[in-house]
Amino acid sequence: MEIKIKKAPLAKRKAKPTDESKLGFGKIFTDHFFNIKYKEGKGWYDPIIEPYRPLQLDPTAMCLHYGQEIFEGLKAYRGKDAAVYLFRPQENIKRMNKSAERLCMPLMDEAIFMEAMKKLVTLEKDWIPHGAGTSMYIRPTMIATEKALGVHPANEYLFFIVVGPVGAYYPQGFSPTKMYVSEEYVRATRGGTGNVKAAINYATSLYASRIATNKGYTQVLWLDAAENKYVEEVGTSNIFFVIGDKLITPPLAGTILPGVTRDSVIKLAGYLGIKVVERRISIQEIIQAAKKGTLKEAFASGTAAIVSPVGLLYFHDKEYLINGGKTGKIAEKLYNEILQIQYGLKEDPFGWRIQIVPGKKAKKG
Ligand SMILES: *Cc1c(COP(=O)(O)O)cnc(C)c1O
Repeated sequence: MEIKIKKAPLAKRKAKPTDESKLGFGKIFTDHFFNIKYKEGKGWYDPIIEPYRPLQLDPTAMCLHYGQEIFEGLKAYRGKDAAVYLFRPQENIKRMNKSAERLCMPLMDEAIFMEAMKKLVTLEKDWIPHGAGTSMYIRPTMIATEKALGVHPANEYLFFIVVGPVGAYYPQGFSPTKMYVSEEYVRATRGGTGNVKAAINYATSLYASRIATNKGYTQVLWLDAAENKYVEEVGTSNIFFVIGDKLITPPLAGTILPGVTRDSVIKLAGYLGIKVVERRISIQEIIQAAKKGTLKEAFASGTAAIVSPVGLLYFHDKEYLINGGKTGKIAEKLYNEILQIQYGLKEDPFGWRIQIVPGKKAKKG
C-alpha cells in the first residue's frame, strides 16, 4: 500500500515558531498529518499525508460515546548535522497494537505505521526545533468512527498521526516534583485497562490529579486498587525508587503501563552497573525508608521528560523530603545517558536509535 502525499500549498503553510523557549508541550502542530481509514471486510485503505485539518465526525461516531480511542507518544530528535532520529519506535507500534486488541479495535499494519511516521517526520523536518532538549512530538491515535449508538465494537475506524515541535522539558535545569499519594482514588484495576494507552484511563485520572494540584502537589502517586498498599505509577509516568544501593520499580503485572522509557532505564541502569530490582513495593516500605534515611532518590520515567526527579512525598497528612528535595545522582546520570543516545551524541549500545534523515556530512555505509 502506497502512502499518498498531498502537500499544502506554500502560501497556506503556517509560520514556524521563532522563539524556541516558548514552545511548551502539545500546543503547536505542523502543516500536514497522516491518516488512514478502516472498514470491516475491507481492512485499512487510503493512507495519505495531507494538509492538517479538523476531522469530520458524525455526532454518533462511536468514539464519542463509548470510548474506543487509543494513542501513542514518541519523539523525533534533531542530532548533529541535521540528522533526525527516532527512539525505539517499534516499541510504540507494538504497544499500540496491544492497546487496539484490548479495546477490540483493528491492529495497524506495522510497516505502514513505521513508514507513515518516517514520511511525515521527514516531510516536516524543518519544524524540528534546534535547541538542546527540544524535539518533535509524534502522536499516533486511533478512533472508532462508525455512526451508531449501542455498545459493540465499531466496524469503522480512523488512524491518524499528528506531529509538532515541543520545548525542552528542563530549560532551567531539573525541578523536582512533589508527589501526592492518592488513597481514595485508583488509576487501574486488575483485569482493567491500566496496561494499555487507552484514552479512558486519562479521563478517570483527572479527579485525583485535581485534588493533588489543589493541595499544592505536582502529581499523584497511584497505589494498587486491590489493597491500596503497593505503589504503581506516578501521574502518567512510571516510578523508580533508590533504596540503599538498589534501583527499585514495580513489576508489569497488568495494571501498570509498560513505558518504553521504563524499559530503557532498567536496561541502561543494568548496563551501567546499577542494581535494578523489579518487585512490588509498598508505600509503607517507602515511608520507613524515608524515615531511616535509606530512601536516596525517587524519579518518574516517560517520553516527555525522560526522567523526572521527585523531591517530596505526601502521605497521610505528612510530607517526606527525598534527597533534600534535590535531584539525585542516579536520576541525573540516567537522564543524561538516555538523552545523549536519543540525540545521536553518544554510541547506542542497544541499537535503540533509528536514523530517518541522514546528517548532511554523514558518510554512507
Ligand atoms: C505513556 C505512559 C507512560 C510512559 O511511557 P513511555 O513509553 O515511557 O512514554 C507511563 N505511564 C502511563 C500511564 C502512560 O500513559
